[in-house]
Amino acid sequence: MAAETQGDAKATDVLDLKTRNIGPVILLGPPGAGKGTQAKALVARYGIPQISTGDLLRENRARGTELGKQAAAIMDRGELVPDELVCSMVAARLAEKDCVRGCILDGFPRTVAQAKWLDDFLARRVAESDQPWPPLVVVSIVVEYNQLWRRLTGRRTCPVDGTIYNIYFQPARVPDTCDICGSKLVTRKDDSEDVISKRLKEYESQTLSLVPYYRQSGRLHEIDGDRSVEEVTAALFRAIEHDRL
Ligand code: AMP
Repeated sequence: MAAETQGDAKATDVLDLKTRNIGPVILLGPPGAGKGTQAKALVARYGIPQISTGDLLRENRARGTELGKQAAAIMDRGELVPDELVCSMVAARLAEKDCVRGCILDGFPRTVAQAKWLDDFLARRVAESDQPWPPLVVVSIVVEYNQLWRRLTGRRTCPVDGTIYNIYFQPARVPDTCDICGSKLVTRKDDSEDVISKRLKEYESQTLSLVPYYRQSGRLHEIDGDRSVEEVTAALFRAIEHDRL
């Protein structure tokens, strides 16, 4: 019980968390591990932005940018967008003002090449910035395969406010309708069964190798993601604050 309460900061501490230099936090985990949901809880606690490469790519597609056009077919097949494209998109985003105290990286890096690029980028930033970030915190959310499958095939999203539901675990009050704004819920194009299977394979073949990569550098926290959203959030706070405070 004592361990469970360690992450509960007092109101004054929470205020402090919103002005602190938190630095970059990587949320690692397979598709469906809950990275997007957890990133939102971290944004609320630390006041730093979530950078989801999946969301940025989808925004580029929606706006019809050159990057969006290049990425579209690759994303629909459940494959990874080439490292150079994703890394330059991330570099541009990290240079924005709201990242000055840090950021939550969700879905990036996804390959060892991206992780190495990020290490170089962060080393340069420490050398050049007048407000350098503290070292990287990496948290891996671990979830069993069958559980991931149900989470992904059951996922429905509100296209208007972004609320995420699941037909098995967290259904909307009225089927297919957002509880908050009443919009019709949608299934992401890459949440079809064959694409999900491809995305999970991509994770196993490419992204899983980041676990030993970061473990070896002593920067990895592994968290059991087969628990309630709130329990996983509390464990994430503890891991990040263990390294930061
Ligand atoms: P996500 O929303 O994180 O599941 O990402 C959706 C899709 O965007 C992935 O299946 C990839 O096609 C692409 N994508 C997102 N992040 C990356 C990344 N870091 N590297 C390569 N492709 C990515």
